[in-house]
Amino acid sequence: MKRIGILGGGQLGRMLLQAAANYPVETYVLENDPQCPAAHLCHHFTCGSINDFETVYQFGKGLDALTIEIESVNVEALEKLEAEGVKIYPKPSALRTIKNKILQKQFYKEQQVRTAEFIIVDNLQAIKDNAHFLPAVNKIAQGGYDGRGVQVMRDVAAIEKGFDAPGILEKMVTIDKEIAQIVAINEKGEIVLYPAVDMVFDPHLNLLDFQISPADIPEKTLWKVEALSLAVVKGLKSPGIFAVELFIDKAGEVYVNETAPRVHNSGHHSIEGNYSSQFDMLWRIMLGYPLGNADEILPAAIVNILGEEGHSGPAYYDGLDQVLTMEHVFVHIYGKKDTKPGRKMGHITILSSNRHDLVHKAHRIRQSLKVITKKDV
Ligand code: ADP
Repeated sequence: MKRIGILGGGQLGRMLLQAAANYPVETYVLENDPQCPAAHLCHHFTCGSINDFETVYQFGKGLDALTIEIESVNVEALEKLEAEGVKIYPKPSALRTIKNKILQKQFYKEQQVRTAEFIIVDNLQAIKDNAHFLPAVNKIAQGGYDGRGVQVMRDVAAIEKGFDAPGILEKMVTIDKEIAQIVAINEKGEIVLYPAVDMVFDPHLNLLDFQISPADIPEKTLWKVEALSLAVVKGLKSPGIFAVELFIDKAGEVYVNETAPRVHNSGHHSIEGNYSSQFDMLWRIMLGYPLGNADEILPAAIVNILGEEGHSGPAYYDGLDQVLTMEHVFVHIYGKKDTKPGRKMGHITILSSNRHDLVHKAHRIRQSLKVITKKDV
């Protein structure tokens, strides 16, 4: 039986392990929180930092393969493990490119993949020196996620909020829609595309609010989305699952925003909505089985369950009973003990052949379900 490890034990690791239970595989998780969502679902849990060279190296040594659920891992250790014969999904070379937004943007340019124009900035002073580039978006090169490494600068007054660290200044795109395209690619280079999805953002938290699959875009735009996503994934030259995030501007032009070299929030609906989920697909790739069928069974929407503002502490899911009575609705609670404002605590998948029904139910769920701290009774 193959022995496969996951770096990181959050909800992505948890859902990967739920899918792993269907296959002959022995699973390992490395994460520094023994209470993490994935800890009790794996065969072997190791408590330790995914950013520490020695810890990652010792964890991976002797395993057949490793995957990641977050980009911020020790790549040097993965490179050493790869050189010693451990298969890494994605390859450390692809991870290195993606992990750093400067390298990632340069990669798009080299591949002639359309992406918003950008310049490299070393610090806040460099942003000030390039004020003529505004309106723009300042993105920190390393370590930003869930909108935390992104600062929108519409005018010079906003420059002060910029990062005093290496990063990019990217031209502001007049976004009409944000799309995510999940792509699966195996060792042989065979590729399967999931239907593209519409992502709808919460402007406050800069976090995904809800999303609908398949995306409601004209066929020609969809071809552009798919062509760009294929170019990105082929260029990265690595087996694995990739989530390409794209912008469509008001003129219908398509730009690649960024790529995640792993299972992704925008593919959670595939658990119920598609024949082979993104999680199932990654196991097929890592275990050397044929790729699955990424087609949709039914259109789907996802609502993220985020921690309510003003509530920090043990999580209580107010309104869950109501959601559980709704038809074609699937609940995923990630098992995080404590809630915090904006923390991803779970998601709900809705299936329906009717798009209005998806949107209507998504709003109803958003209104009924709140993650709060337990009331004293
Ligand atoms: P993160 O990696 O933290 O998710 P993103 O690069 O995806 O950061 O940016 C977060 C959000 O900021 C995007 O989903 C989009 O809404 C907005 N954004 C990012 N880049 C641009 C841009 N060039 N023009 C307009 N909006 C942008």
